[in-house]
Amino acid sequence: MNQRETLKNKNGVLEIGGVSATKLAKEFGTPLYVMDQAYIENMCKVYKETLEKEYGDGLICYASKAFSCKEIYRIVNNAGIGADTVSGGEIFTAKSVDFPMEKICFHGNNKTKAELEFAVNSGVGYIVLDAYSEADELDLICKKLNKTQKVLIRVNPGVEAHTHHYIQTAKVDSKFGFSIDSGEALEIVKFVSKKSNIELCGLHCHIGSQIFESKSFALAVDKMTGFYKTIKTELGLEFDVLNMGGGFGIYYAEDDAKKTCAEYADYIKIIAKELKYNVIVKGIKKPFLILEPGRSIVGEAGVTLYTAGRIKDIKSIKKYVAIDGGMFDNPRFALYQAKYTVIAAEKLNEQPIEKYSIAGKCCESGDIIAEDCMLPKINEGDLLAVLSTGAYNYSMSSNYNRNLIPPVIMVKDGEARYAVKPQTYEDLLRNDV
Ligand SMILES: *Cc1c(COP(=O)(O)O)cnc(C)c1O
Repeated sequence: MNQRETLKNKNGVLEIGGVSATKLAKEFGTPLYVMDQAYIENMCKVYKETLEKEYGDGLICYASKAFSCKEIYRIVNNAGIGADTVSGGEIFTAKSVDFPMEKICFHGNNKTKAELEFAVNSGVGYIVLDAYSEADELDLICKKLNKTQKVLIRVNPGVEAHTHHYIQTAKVDSKFGFSIDSGEALEIVKFVSKKSNIELCGLHCHIGSQIFESKSFALAVDKMTGFYKTIKTELGLEFDVLNMGGGFGIYYAEDDAKKTCAEYADYIKIIAKELKYNVIVKGIKKPFLILEPGRSIVGEAGVTLYTAGRIKDIKSIKKYVAIDGGMFDNPRFALYQAKYTVIAAEKLNEQPIEKYSIAGKCCESGDIIAEDCMLPKINEGDLLAVLSTGAYNYSMSSNYNRNLIPPVIMVKDGEARYAVKPQTYEDLLRNDV
């Protein structure tokens, strides 16, 4: 099992945040997203304190596309960190719980005019530009609204991070950002710096996701600070802000490195150390450092509970256990063969003796949650738990096949409460004409 304080084996039954999986399933039904609040709070605290201690001036912005609902914005706000958003909907959700807008970064490779207007009117801290026409459009919006908007530009430092290629974003052919190496980044910096209603404060990069190699982050810092120096020399411009994005790898399954909350600080330490060093060596102004971890704040905090249904034994080939969920609550295997750890939540003390593939209930052959999981003998009605589902599960859920999106339960100190209530069939019809 994942090593963490709040995920326990109590007499063979999984306990999350002090509440047994049996009780959660009985009270709220399955499929069920369960989020361990203490884990989320602890991660926010570790990141915030490490940044303050190891670097100084900066802000952790939780990348809320990993898991977005009103309650998570309340939790991260109480923990004193900011948020990174990628749509008007995420900004709207944050705003609905009075999230401090100045602590919000707004990203996206194709923000609409309506979204830009909404962001400026809401007073978001930074808008991260990713196109010339976007800079034009935003400048006009600001002029019309008589406001000056702080902006960053997304650049591509050309660092290849070792991770699955679908979630790699800083290669030269990425849809995100302007390449430093090709000179395109310098051109757009020139262009944006001349705009009068937007204030260029610095640059942003995000080299990918689920990255374990800290060398990748160190290399990205080196490239970004090298570029800050070029900009200083060639354009006489000095920036106040540097946003290094997120992407810190978490534990899903065997091949991943296991870390305690405290050990996640290492990612921040490496970036801080590398940046402090490069600032001196390259003679640039020490920037306000923004970091945007998403997955690592909420990923391991999440567990999805399912009830085992039909078991299909294709003799000497494969054994499937079908669950009451699937790609509508977790499309990550279907999207990019993401790996998960699956456990029999009430049989933790039984020996794993059989290999099962966990199949969803949707009408797609690719609707699989995990393949070849070693489990004790599974019967219909058994409770299964998929671990590390806190990031990019609920936020990627859908009503495919008109299945209902499961509710999200927040657990802490033995108490369980709704963060997101269950959908009903009526909800499915709400916008139907
Ligand atoms: C997705 C994303 C993040 C967060 O990535 P994680 O892997 O969840 O930490 C941060 N910044 C930007 C711009 C992103 O697109």
